[in-house]
Formats: sequence, C-alpha cells, structure tokens
Amino acid sequence: MLGKILLGIGAGLAALTLAFSGRGRRPMLADEQPEPKRRQKAARRLSLLEPSTRAFAVAIIDWSRAQGIPAYLGMTYRSPEEQRKVDPHRTGIKEGEFGWHSVGRAFHLDIRKADNTFDKAAYAIVGAEVRRRGGVWLGDRERTSRAGTPFLDLAHFEYHPGFKKLAQYRGTPLARQELAMAERRAIEAATYA
Ligand SMILES: [Zn+2]
Repeated sequence: MLGKILLGIGAGLAALTLAFSGRGRRPMLADEQPEPKRRQKAARRLSLLEPSTRAFAVAIIDWSRAQGIPAYLGMTYRSPEEQRKVDPHRTGIKEGEFGWHSVGRAFHLDIRKADNTFDKAAYAIVGAEVRRRGGVWLGDRERTSRAGTPFLDLAHFEYHPGFKKLAQYRGTPLARQELAMAERRAIEAATYA
C-alpha cells in the first residue's frame, strides 16, 4: 500500500517536473499565429539576414530560450520600399537613406509576457547579453525620430562589428556590396518561397 502511494507521488512529481521543464514555452494566445506558420516566417526572415548577423541572431535566440526567455525572431531585412513606409515617429533614418535593416544587419526580437505585452525586463537581460557579444541594443536609450519626437526601439538589435555608426559604414565598398547582396537575398526568397 505504502509502496503504491509512494509510486503515485513519484509519478505526480515526474509529471510536474515535465510540466515545468518546458522553459520558454507558454500557452499560445488567441491572436498568435499557429506554430508552423510562425516557424516558416522566422526561417524566411532568418534567410534575409547577412550571414554573420544570422548566426548572431540564432545564437542569441538560443541563449534567451535557455534562460527561459521566449524570444522569437521578428522583422529583419527591409527593402527600400519598406524603409520608405516606416512611420517617421519610429525611425531615426532620413528619407531615402538606408539603415542596418536594409543590409540585413538588424533584426527585431519579439519577447512578450503571458498577457501579450512586451517584456521590458527580459529585453534588458537579452540586450545586455547582445552588447556583451559585440552587438547593439538601443532599447533602453531614448532617441529622436525623424519626425523630431522621442522614441524607444525596444525590440531592435544590430550586429555590425567594426562600424560604430551608420555614417562610418555608408559609402564604403562593403556597404555597397552588402546592400546588393541583401536585395539579391530578398529576390531569391520571394522567387523560391
Ligand atoms: Zn528595427
């Protein structure tokens, strides 16, 4: 009898452990896309990144999930047309100029709490790790938008070692080459999607 009870407790504990070991997982919210579609989208976005940035993004998502932070890849590459459509209150990039998204060296991470709001505390943890690895996170620094209003780019990350600012990168042969490669990747992704 006692053995049976102990066995029952053991099985219960094992089930509990299983339930809590799925770190980074959470019940899907009503307005979220089903997992396969989300994965497909993430794979496509990943393919649009510059290769070293792609590896950087994958490593930071893996690291985040290992910490129990459910990070998902958001927007990555932005075509010149998409760049033109960005809300001037949400970007510091001037009209007609290109940014890190345009060369596949910027990506967004979607990190939300159970109530579907952005998890600012988790962003700060991931942001610190991104900086430690030589990437950029500006989510805790208020910037001035093109429209002249202050904004916070919480979900935005960049990877461009060797170039602190866009101004240093723009006009270099590397920038021209990477712009062309980013556009080619986008054409390929659209053709073979
Ligand atoms: Zn961005």
